[in-house]
Amino acid sequence: MKIKASTKTYGLLGNPIEHSISPIIHNMFSEELQEDAIYETFCVEKGQLEQAIKGAYALKIQGLNITVPFKTEVIDKLVFVEEEAKKIGAVNTLVYQEDGYHGLNTDCEGLHQAFISDGIPLEELDILILGAGGAARAVLYMCMKYSKKNIYICNRTKEKAISLAEEMNDYFGRDQVVGLGMDSFEQIPQCKKGYLAIQTTSVGLYPFIKDCIVTDASFFQKVAIGYDIIYTPEETAFMKEVTKAGGIAYNGLKMLLFQAVLAYETWRKKKIPLELSEKVLVKMKDELNAQN
Ligand code: NAP
Repeated sequence: MKIKASTKTYGLLGNPIEHSISPIIHNMFSEELQEDAIYETFCVEKGQLEQAIKGAYALKIQGLNITVPFKTEVIDKLVFVEEEAKKIGAVNTLVYQEDGYHGLNTDCEGLHQAFISDGIPLEELDILILGAGGAARAVLYMCMKYSKKNIYICNRTKEKAISLAEEMNDYFGRDQVVGLGMDSFEQIPQCKKGYLAIQTTSVGLYPFIKDCIVTDASFFQKVAIGYDIIYTPEETAFMKEVTKAGGIAYNGLKMLLFQAVLAYETWRKKKIPLELSEKVLVKMKDELNAQN
């Protein structure tokens, strides 16, 4: 890649940031499409987000991704935030505009694209979401946007699951979601086709790869498809349990890929061909294998 005076800069703000594979994804898009753009990571210290955003805007950085721990904090630092991102309560993509940065959330649609890519029948199965943190909000929003099936959301802190369920039921104007404590999954009725279980907690994330959010084997009997939004390790303990009980399991690598595709397409106003996404996915896997 040749960096010239005309080269446009994009990047990722977060902390920690050193193991991010986002530069691999975005720089490969630019190389393959011969776009005059580079993507960098910027580690921002706690309390410095506002200065970082102002500085980036002054430097005309054309687009930024936002990651942990700033996805919520960034919202009130922007001149405009899309309705969907506001409701989810998290922005992961900033777009340079004349009046300042505009914020959107591509995690939600990225997960939807990942489901389409893997042929996961979102509209056909009842859904069970584990966790009620920041990522779970985007996951629940996506499920309610595209499915009318029953949804149960279980979280260690039960009150968070209940209030998130109430909030989203109000927003979508229907009683679709029930919030429960993590230990109350026995209350979830059996469903004929089995559940689509989406694991959104940080339990099982590298290096704690033996940890699994649920340890009771009877839980996994209820699961037809298990989707863990974690992608390091490649096969999480949750995925292993799903497979052991006869279900099909996926990790969150494609969610990461497609949120990047959507951000890149917004920034560069270019369509990423499917073959390129597939090529980048292979590179992402190689990179993660080399890291771990
Ligand atoms: P978060 O806001 O901090 O939420 C963490 C969630 O995990 C909460 O529900 C929390 O429960 C639960 N939790 C944490 N430790 C637990 C434990 N020991 N036992 C039971 N529950 C526990 O984090 P987040 O932003 O939602 O991120 C969650 C995960 O999603 C991370 O691993 C992140 O890497 C992944 N992620 C992946 C993608 C992707 O593109 N694939 C995108 C975004 C996030 P409490 O409420 O009870 O604390």
